[in-house]
Amino acid sequence: MAKLTVEDLPLEGKKVLMRVDFNVPIKDGVVGDDNRIVAALPTIKYVIDHGGRAVLFSHLGRIKKEEDKPGLSMRPVAERLSNLINKPVTFVPVTEGKQLEDAIDNMKNGEILLVQNTRYEDVKDGEYVKRESGNDPELGKYWASLGDVFVNDAFGTAHRKHASNVGIATNMPGKAAAGYLMEKEIKFLGDAVDNPERPFVAILGGAKVSDKIGVIDNLLEKADKIIIGGGMAYTFYAAKGIKIGNSLVEKDKIDVAKQILDKAGDKLVLPIDNVVADKFNNDADSKVVEGDIDDGWMALDIGPKTVKLYEDVLKDAKTVVWNGPMGVFEMPNFAKGTLEIGKFLGTLTDATTIVGGGDSTAAVKELGVADKLTHISTGGGASLTYLEGQELPGIAAISEK
Ligand code: AMP
Repeated sequence: MAKLTVEDLPLEGKKVLMRVDFNVPIKDGVVGDDNRIVAALPTIKYVIDHGGRAVLFSHLGRIKKEEDKPGLSMRPVAERLSNLINKPVTFVPVTEGKQLEDAIDNMKNGEILLVQNTRYEDVKDGEYVKRESGNDPELGKYWASLGDVFVNDAFGTAHRKHASNVGIATNMPGKAAAGYLMEKEIKFLGDAVDNPERPFVAILGGAKVSDKIGVIDNLLEKADKIIIGGGMAYTFYAAKGIKIGNSLVEKDKIDVAKQILDKAGDKLVLPIDNVVADKFNNDADSKVVEGDIDDGWMALDIGPKTVKLYEDVLKDAKTVVWNGPMGVFEMPNFAKGTLEIGKFLGTLTDATTIVGGGDSTAAVKELGVADKLTHISTGGGASLTYLEGQELPGIAAISEK
């Protein structure tokens, strides 16, 4: 990759501004799943081990009004980070001003400081001004002025143009580098999409075709097969004239689905059987049907023959990218298709297997196969934007080598 990385930067004695993705679930002031904090540790450790003064920035949740702020303070994150890294972490409860500037000036080499939630800047004096989320030019400039170099390790927000990623980077030309996590994401997703070992199979699921049209369009050029599952499959059924009963459908996307089918030929693989239910409920009456779905029934998962078909397509793959569940994964009775596909991916030890998106990631973790896969992307939205072949502003703003 032709981008500057953390190892290219001078770090000894430097104030190293770092954008990390600490957007973790917080309940009653306690961090839940801390995977994202853990994922940022290698870069933070590298910086402090090389004498840098790590000044960390992250957003947490969404802030639209003053009342959102107290529950979205970074303080619990600072505590968890300190436990994980086994070092003190100074928490500064503000995002600008003398308290922050003094705290940074007082840092010694190898110390860590965490700035308050960058999205506190989105609300000022009760007004929703979106300084962080709208990439206010003054804010990026101000934050950049607080440090000597910048490391962006927040792949999860790379598809967004915010002051704390794009703003800081553009104000530090030649000094904005990618952290290890960012580098890893770019390497795995980049190689998979642009230079895949073949056969390259993509598995796309989830609720809506409309969310995935860009990805399908881009991957039709690059993948050898695209497997479709989840609610989006039934808009393709409708486009083919297969009856869908009460299944999820985006009527205004049936024409697009037709165009995709025409272009794709046999590259696109659709379910051949489905688990249908008489209502959208885990306890609904259900059965497996092939082909047409009768009125009064809705498809909530792919069926066993489809699982078999998909395993057949996947078994010789050398590169697999998976994003989105094969059914209503939240309901245990309709999670089977997603879990079976996850389990099968875990057996493909000769292939590069990459998973992105909340439900697919949850599935491979639940199955305990996550460590058998090559890469679990930390950014759902960012990885989709990457799969669409679009430039991610957070990555584009990182300096070239
Ligand atoms: P996405 O946000 O696009 O990744 O889609 C995830 C959502 O799609 C989950 O909440 C699933 O419950 C939902 N989903 C998957 N398959 C179906 C289906 N057959 N019918 C309705 N919703 C579905």
